[in-house]
Amino acid sequence: SMGDSAEDAVRGTNDSAVESRCSAVNLGYFKDEFVKFFTRRTERRPPIINRGSYARFMGFDIFINKFLEAGDMKKQIVVLGAGSDTKYFNLKKENKQPYKFFEIDFPQITFKKIQTIKRSKQISGLIGDFEINIGHTELYGQDYYIISEDLKNFTTKIVPKLEEHGFDKNLPTMFLSECVMIYMDPEHSDAIVQWISENVPTSLIMAYEQILPNDAFGQMMIKNLKARNIELKGIDAYPDLEDQKNRYLSRGWDQAFAININYFFNSHIDPSEYHRQMLIEIFDEIEEWKLIAQHYCFAWAFNMKNEDYKFIFDD
Ligand code: SAM
Repeated sequence: SMGDSAEDAVRGTNDSAVESRCSAVNLGYFKDEFVKFFTRRTERRPPIINRGSYARFMGFDIFINKFLEAGDMKKQIVVLGAGSDTKYFNLKKENKQPYKFFEIDFPQITFKKIQTIKRSKQISGLIGDFEINIGHTELYGQDYYIISEDLKNFTTKIVPKLEEHGFDKNLPTMFLSECVMIYMDPEHSDAIVQWISENVPTSLIMAYEQILPNDAFGQMMIKNLKARNIELKGIDAYPDLEDQKNRYLSRGWDQAFAININYFFNSHIDPSEYHRQMLIEIFDEIEEWKLIAQHYCFAWAFNMKNEDYKFIFDD
């Protein structure tokens, strides 16, 4: 099992994620007025990192909006390893929040998030009425919930907690894993994938994570993380796009897709937006960018067991 320092290192990846997001937001890559509350480090990151944060943001933004706009029934979003994710606040501000929005992370991370929420009227006001548990690691609002638990205890501890706070397996539900399952033992992340497939008849899961561990760049990426005591535990189990797809198909999901970030830019970002974003920073590391972008993917899968809600997944 993971030593404490290895777990701390995994939790530390949340700091770099939020610092990078803040840098990209400050430069105008995308809008997120809440990210600044979650970090004091607002240094400018290199263009390649900003571009990566932009891709990551856009991918989730596009798919979340599609999911929320398809039909006006109650829907749920569950964010695995949410860290300092601000999606709920941005959706709520635009009155686009789903019926229920759940976030899960380690107690050390949720404690800090709740502290930040309590300190900021702008955020707490947005949430509306909420209660906080004794340890200040969980928050229960009207449509927003923060649950503190190790994701390896998904079926035994997290599912009962979700249900206690109104999670309904029969509602269309989107599960997000933004650089999270890759840090878990595949045995534990796959238990989550399997549980959703078997228990949430109308669901969508979307993951953003590293692939291609075996080429020179992949080896370097893994070595650099190892130096920070961070292990990509899932990368050997799902090393390429085909394996990423099969991860879901072999566990009963009806459709699955996996694309790298180069392909994502070509297929999902329209030309005017592509150019706007290209002009933000002088960018002369095109070859390096293409190589990095090849090593990150979006993978998503649909569970369409309920005929009535199948239309949600129509293109
Ligand atoms: N999803 C957020 C984002 O993209 O900004 C945070 C990403 S950060 C790279 C990874 C997050 O996953 C951290 O907040 C970490 O604590 C959480 N995490 C990783 N393994 C976990 C586990 N076994 N249980 C709960 N949270 C976990």
